[in-house]
Amino acid sequence: MSYHTKTVSRRELFVILYPYRTLPQHEKSITLKDQKKNGKEQPWKEKKIASLDYAELLHILEFNKASRVQQCGTVLDFNVDHEGYLTLAHAWFCKSRLCQICNWRRAMKHSGQTKKIVAEVIRRKPKARWLFLTLTVKNVYDGEELNQNLSEMARGFRKMVQYKKVAKNMIGFMRASEVTVNPKDHSYNQHLHVLLCVESTYFKNQDNYIKQNEWTQFWQKAMKLDYTPVVNVQAIKPKNGEKSDIASAVDETAKYPVKSTDYMTDDRDRNLQVVKDLEEGLRQKRLISYGGLLKEVHKELHMDEVDDEEADLIHTDEDEAEEVAYSIVAIWNWQKKKYLIH
Ligand SMILES: [Zn+2]
Repeated sequence: MSYHTKTVSRRELFVILYPYRTLPQHEKSITLKDQKKNGKEQPWKEKKIASLDYAELLHILEFNKASRVQQCGTVLDFNVDHEGYLTLAHAWFCKSRLCQICNWRRAMKHSGQTKKIVAEVIRRKPKARWLFLTLTVKNVYDGEELNQNLSEMARGFRKMVQYKKVAKNMIGFMRASEVTVNPKDHSYNQHLHVLLCVESTYFKNQDNYIKQNEWTQFWQKAMKLDYTPVVNVQAIKPKNGEKSDIASAVDETAKYPVKSTDYMTDDRDRNLQVVKDLEEGLRQKRLISYGGLLKEVHKELHMDEVDDEEADLIHTDEDEAEEVAYSIVAIWNWQKKKYLIH
């Protein structure tokens, strides 16, 4: 009779024991605190709670993805450096359009990417000037109209940038769609925020410079509107106080496409209607796009599309951990409604 013995490697032992590692070893588990070097604490808990509220509405509306949203960011693996700062190493995110965890990660990533792109464009075109353009159309009242309208606006914008007077000074652009909910008349306002990069000749004379009312006319024509739309255009100063105007404009375009405070009110029936409309309205919509030199640089720097299904929402920070001292796992505690480190 022979005994079959097998040596268990450290790795295998870890895998075997892993489930037990997730159990609290003491009565008191440690609450997750992810504070960045600039002192800013990452809002994991707030975002997870907002995402769960949204998952609950999806569940009532019988959307299949409700359980996916509910699982978004439930387990967070962090690398910890020697100073104790955390860097997210692994997590699963639902990628849903209205999920507050995903939108927070997307906005961070988008802002970081755009700042790098803008810096590179300025390096190549130091004399270029920057404009911030806001293009709106009339409010709509349901999801179907919203969906149609967002497509029309993307088409209209593509058309407008090809107009001779716009195209001749254009270096590139970045556009982002935003939807706001009007709580008074229950309508939706969809608008485009555009960061435009133009040649310095744009400001030279009437042949090149486009006045506010001309932008309005161009937008009205491109969209075939029978009314005068609200259009706003601002020239951006490269440096203004502590934060450059370009950085402010980047932040403006890197906002969440829809704020949860816009659809999370005290009226549940109303919240359900808004989520239903927004789910339909934002379905298969590309909310961010680049053009011209900004698009080329985005491609050259091998950046992924932040509103894509495949987007990597784990690595959003520039301050990647240089040295990993150890790792921790933070798991959402459903009873205590916070992340606990195990
Ligand atoms: Zn999510």
